[in-house]
Amino acid sequence: MKLFRFSGGIHPEGRKHATTDKPIQKMPMPHRLYVPLQQHVGAPAEPQVKVGEHVLKGQLLAHSQGMISAPVHSPTSGIIVEIGDFTAPHPSGLPVRTIIIESDGEDRWMTDLHPAEDPLRMPPDEVAARVGMAGIVGMGGATFPASVKLKQSLKNKVHTFIVNGSECEPYLTCDDRLMQERAEQLIDGTRIVLHAAQVAQAYIAVEDNKPAAIEALTKACRHITTIKVVAVPSLYPMGSAQHLIKTVTGQEVPADGRSSDIGLLVHNVGTVYAIHRALRHGEPLISRVITVGGGAVTEPINVEVPIGALVSDVLAFCGGLKQSPARLLVGGPMMGQILPTTATPVVKGTNGIVALTAEEITQEQTMPCIRCGSCVTACPCGLLPLQMAAFSKAGNFDKVDELGLVDCISCGSCSYVCPSHIPLVHYFNYAKGELLARELQKHKAQEHRRLVDQRKERLDREIAAKAAAAAKRKADAEKKKKVVTEA
Ligand code: SF4
Ligand code: SF4
Repeated sequence: MKLFRFSGGIHPEGRKHATTDKPIQKMPMPHRLYVPLQQHVGAPAEPQVKVGEHVLKGQLLAHSQGMISAPVHSPTSGIIVEIGDFTAPHPSGLPVRTIIIESDGEDRWMTDLHPAEDPLRMPPDEVAARVGMAGIVGMGGATFPASVKLKQSLKNKVHTFIVNGSECEPYLTCDDRLMQERAEQLIDGTRIVLHAAQVAQAYIAVEDNKPAAIEALTKACRHITTIKVVAVPSLYPMGSAQHLIKTVTGQEVPADGRSSDIGLLVHNVGTVYAIHRALRHGEPLISRVITVGGGAVTEPINVEVPIGALVSDVLAFCGGLKQSPARLLVGGPMMGQILPTTATPVVKGTNGIVALTAEEITQEQTMPCIRCGSCVTACPCGLLPLQMAAFSKAGNFDKVDELGLVDCISCGSCSYVCPSHIPLVHYFNYAKGELLARELQKHKAQEHRRLVDQRKERLDREIAAKAAAAAKRKADAEKKKKVVTEA
């Protein structure tokens, strides 16, 4: 099959050896689980349960709200002990509304799980609805509700489904292990998605540095003509949907568009596996496979973790930390986010916990730009990182915006290759934050003006109504006076 090359990209050291050959383990249920109501793009879920209530494993805890949202379910059986704010797995450490469950130790499933009799014979929109009810979101990190994507694909008459098995982040091997160990289930999930979105063909795109996964998937789909396994080059950021699309089809997603606009649907392997579990077993998304890696971890592993387990509990299951990490990340070192504390839960979009030692991170002194152009060559989005960084540094965010900041996927390729060790991607993330804050400010000001105008209109209407009433009273009085005079 002909493949296409995107511009830029880098080959960071994989550092996957510590976990790539380790089978997926299952973590025992922690005593407490912390399930945030906002684990997805869109509106937060609305609680359905009360403090003190006993819940069963898989029971709905909070339902979705509006068009873009996802429900959350209980990862085990136990008692709801609190519904309140708890630290989010985000560098800001800001709290989000969270349901806290104390496990009863029985891990008892609800009895009315309803697997589909035959998902491949169900009406497609019903399959999408079940994916929505199971709370499945993009598990590669995007966390966009999967059912919304399926419905959009059906509406836009998508012709090709790409399963993203390109795990290009260093240290992470959870998708690789999932593809090796649960290939049959992944192929089944792929067939269910093909049916739900009424798509004719699927490509499972796996980087060529994962031969065991390619072999397992190829074997599992050998009799299915609509699914092909494609080995794509190991080039970072191949895991980005737009770069995978370019590689497999040669097509580019429009800057302000979606993949469905060009007839394509992309789901991560974790999402496809969750769809298989939801339709074949009636299970909502209450656990996921993650990699725990980095030199500071005693025993790096791949592990299936209940959603809501604390990072500290997961690390304890891996034998704890050998040393205090120089950097603790959720996700990989290229695009992952720094965790301010281990007292934060694993959520649906968490694909790894990486605890790095000082030796594993570059802490070279930042030097002035020598205008070598390496960052421009490395950028997979065709941007000019050196100029964007210079304008960000000067606080000229309009200019950064003009240079295409919106297209920057924060992949960190530019920072990785910079010989002067300039933390370019940090400048871009900062500029994105500034522009977002400015946009919010603008929105707030517009909203304020709208309310002021509305109030003024109301006051004007009231004054006019009062004046009209006074005029009418005067006219009535004069009329009455005239009648009396004439009489
Ligand atoms: S890679 Fe670094 S030193 Fe080279 S042009 Fe870009 S910012 Fe300057
Ligand atoms: S972080 Fe942004 S500017 Fe830098 S290489 Fe990636 S996409 Fe390009």
